Amino acid sequence: MNIGFISLGCSKNRVDTEIMMAILKRAGYKIVNRIEKAELVIINTCGFINDAKEEAIDTIIEIGHLKEAGIVNYIIATGCLAQRYGKELLEEMPELDAVVGISSFMNIDRIVEMVVKGERLAETPPPPMFFVEKGERILTTPPGSAYLKITEGCNNRCSYCAIPLIRGNLRSKSLDDIAKEASFLVEKEKIKELVLVGQDTAAYGMDLYGKSMLPDVLQILSEIDCLEWIRIMYLHPNHISDEIIEKVALLEKVVPYLDIPIQHFADDVLKRMNRKHNGEHLKKVITRLREAKYNLVLRTTVMVGFPGETEEDFKKLYNFIEETEFDWLGCFAFNPEEGTAAYNMSGQIDDETKQERLSELMKLQKKITRRKNIGRLNKVENILISSQIDKNLYLGRGYFQAPEVDGVTLVRSEKPLSKGEFTKVLLKGVREYDIIGVVVAEEDQYIS
Ligand code: SF4
Repeated sequence: MNIGFISLGCSKNRVDTEIMMAILKRAGYKIVNRIEKAELVIINTCGFINDAKEEAIDTIIEIGHLKEAGIVNYIIATGCLAQRYGKELLEEMPELDAVVGISSFMNIDRIVEMVVKGERLAETPPPPMFFVEKGERILTTPPGSAYLKITEGCNNRCSYCAIPLIRGNLRSKSLDDIAKEASFLVEKEKIKELVLVGQDTAAYGMDLYGKSMLPDVLQILSEIDCLEWIRIMYLHPNHISDEIIEKVALLEKVVPYLDIPIQHFADDVLKRMNRKHNGEHLKKVITRLREAKYNLVLRTTVMVGFPGETEEDFKKLYNFIEETEFDWLGCFAFNPEEGTAAYNMSGQIDDETKQERLSELMKLQKKITRRKNIGRLNKVENILISSQIDKNLYLGRGYFQAPEVDGVTLVRSEKPLSKGEFTKVLLKGVREYDIIGVVVAEEDQYIS
């Protein structure tokens, strides 16, 4: 039977999709890229905020139309929306044949068998206590790059966040399993870049080893031959220790790029968000990191319109963003999520004000990102080629660009380039959030 996948949401969810693909392939099913070729479709949903829930439900309805038309026979929803709403989702959506939570997707082969036998089921027990999401994967990322999920769940309990309700408490993959998976990906899949993901990667190991062991992960990965880039995403600023800063500074393979979601800067707001630190702490951490790692590129995520956020609070955040000049920034408008502490908080802000603050901040950030990108021009950089757009135009990323969330580098080349390989590129121009460059001549490829 042909099985097709739609993977929604974040990189952690994408890793789960890749594991499910490998499980079903091993069980003898054929994984197809084109949904209209699939007899069974698995929609790996996201469900932590309203927009994501709507996207998941729209996707289920859309595939439901293919089922009505007899093109698709079965539909299974997995992932966060499935975990969060379980039986209720199955009752609400007749299109679905099964709803499978994040705690059960490792049994996807058994569930597919039951569905094909005509069963309709919801399997969403509470999240597991230990890291179970492991095993072979069918990579869905472009050649040369792969996500490495080192933690699942989260203990931080930020007051606006539904993720711990869905994905449970912090669970770290063992150091041994991380080393094994990373070596396999580098040797067998020719991976050059590993992108470390989790809800809070800086908290890695606090459950299993009683303290953050991210420095040990970085050391182990750095010793893998042929691995060239280690990129760290989702660092909670409260858990960025001296040891982590030291390793980031010393280990060459750790690219000078860090993703540190700060959410806000005003102390009152940070307190009500339960971020467990104040604005001054953010300033200190960022200053120390920039002193420790030359050319450090910083990405962050902020939230506007949190209950009780005054014009003055917003101004504090705005000024901090203007002063700090993050290279990349994502901004969300607060959305009350059932089951979270902030859901019933007083001082809820109207949507118009939220949108005004969001667009004001993004307008500021657009100028900053452009200035940062212009500052990279007329330099030669190592670009990881991920795809070919036309005869002489390729798409890639430099160390200063994370996959899927930042801009890309468009590479003009008269000679063919290999996907998943690095090539030296002279950066020449900026277009929106992207950079345009030309391949450096063969004899100059040695330029460092
Ligand atoms: S760190 Fe906070 S925002 Fe991030 S997953 Fe954990 S609880 Fe949610």
